[in-house]
Amino acid sequence: MTATWIKNPLSIYTSNTQDARGGIVIRGQTIVELVPTGEQPKTQISEVVDASQLVVLPGLVNTHHHLYQTLTRALPAALNKRLFPWLQSLYPIWANLQQEALFSATQLGLTELLLSGCTTVADHHYLFPNAIDDAIDIQVQAAQSVGTRVMLTRGSMSLGKEDGGLPPQRTVQKDDIILADCERVIDRYHQRDAGAMVQIALAPCSPFSVTTQLMKQTAALAKSKDVLLHTHLAETEDENDFCLSRFGLRPVDYLESVDWLQARTWLAHGIHFNDEEIKRLGSANVGVCHCPSSNMVLASGIARTKEMEAAGVRIGLGVDGSASNDGSNMIQEARQALLIGRLRYKADELGHLDALRWATKGSAEVLHRQDIGEIAVGKQADLALFSLHELRFSGAHDPLAAVILCGAHKAKHVMVAGQWKVWNEALTNGISIDELIARHSSLAKQLVSSPI
Ligand code: ZN
Repeated sequence: MTATWIKNPLSIYTSNTQDARGGIVIRGQTIVELVPTGEQPKTQISEVVDASQLVVLPGLVNTHHHLYQTLTRALPAALNKRLFPWLQSLYPIWANLQQEALFSATQLGLTELLLSGCTTVADHHYLFPNAIDDAIDIQVQAAQSVGTRVMLTRGSMSLGKEDGGLPPQRTVQKDDIILADCERVIDRYHQRDAGAMVQIALAPCSPFSVTTQLMKQTAALAKSKDVLLHTHLAETEDENDFCLSRFGLRPVDYLESVDWLQARTWLAHGIHFNDEEIKRLGSANVGVCHCPSSNMVLASGIARTKEMEAAGVRIGLGVDGSASNDGSNMIQEARQALLIGRLRYKADELGHLDALRWATKGSAEVLHRQDIGEIAVGKQADLALFSLHELRFSGAHDPLAAVILCGAHKAKHVMVAGQWKVWNEALTNGISIDELIARHSSLAKQLVSSPI
């Protein structure tokens, strides 16, 4: 088996103190050796990659997205709106989603992320209009064509407008249909071993789009199948008010009442928690996906990341859906995490290493993955290598800090499971970016112009 030495990196981000300045050795899918400064690998090497002008990071991990939303970026009807009216403008358009558009959107979003250095993506797909009851199957195929790891969450909406929810009736499904499909896709696609390329989690959309009964049944199914749980929570003050008026409970109390206050759960956003709620989330070891860009676009607020982390909450990062970001660039999301954090914390309380930790190991922990998110012996060889040979980096002194502070936006090489998926900023999977854009943008036009 060939062994590749990524030799003498300009800088390398490891989350422990082990010296890896001489580089790393990859064999098969895994990292087999960290090479100390000035030393040669002990492993027999068959290929050398000179990394002397490259910054080496673990592949970035995105813990929240809605890939189908790449079809509705910068949509005039949704611009400059608060969360609820924003959703109400978009739901009728999203309700027309068709199979081909979902495939193309998934392929495009994953490609965009991969080129930014992201090797694992969690997608929250909760839209199952009549035309696509096989949405997760479509996404698995699209992910396999791109070559990133995915955590596909089988989302759900069961509380339509007629029953006091937010989404239009034709986008919601009955509880028994949702649960049967959840079980089907877990059995068919969820991989449990180290190195898994496809995993499944269960993800009712939010407290304002599913019934209490479905939240409880989903938690029970996740326990019996041993998979994770995901939902949006405490994104805006409006949502907290909705929970209070509908359930008489704040979001964390509601979460507890439906058996979701547990380590199996990770939440998107998690902004509007009080001190006592943060303590409870930490004791339960819940995960939170911090979505800085989306929170800024929708003026949702600033998550209390440092307090949550100190309380024991697992923190990761997510770009969120492209209707509220509107890009899918994970290295830029790490920069946004630093910048938005500086509006809440003092400059010496949160730094670029926090942002990098959240985008890598933190996100991996949110997804309960011990095999990715870190450069260490035995971990999967998922890597993002950045060149600093660009105007924006010239004059930078700390290469690792420069990747975040100067605004890196594309990786030079990206490896997933020991294979180069991006080499010299180009895809190796045979997908033509020009063709992908042409197809995707035409499907996006069709979606927006189809009758509501
Ligand atoms: Zn979201």
